[in-house]
Amino acid sequence: MGEITNERGIVYLICGSRGPERRCHYIGFTTNLDERIEDHIRRTKADLLEVLTRAGVEWKIARTWNGDRNFEKWLIENKKGADWFCPVCSGEAAMKRATLKKRGAE
Ligand SMILES: [Zn+2]
Repeated sequence: MGEITNERGIVYLICGSRGPERRCHYIGFTTNLDERIEDHIRRTKADLLEVLTRAGVEWKIARTWNGDRNFEKWLIENKKGADWFCPVCSGEAAMKRATLKKRGAE
């Protein structure tokens, strides 16, 4: 159903770290805007985050976008470049990258 992919929500990037050389990234999407996004992610992704925490990986929500599943998909396809658009890994400059405007979604 096409409408579902066009549904707007929050696309989020989680950056996990076990030190500067050992980063991992996770990209997700939620339409549940009523709750605080961190609580929502913590609950829905509890398994993943529990595994990360147990493995001694520190994680945080590095970035969020107002987007849809198509944008999420695009980010996941470009996930190898997550270091490049993750502000935790690349600092302020990352915020100018992988923007919705560049994707023509805004
Ligand atoms: Zn990162």
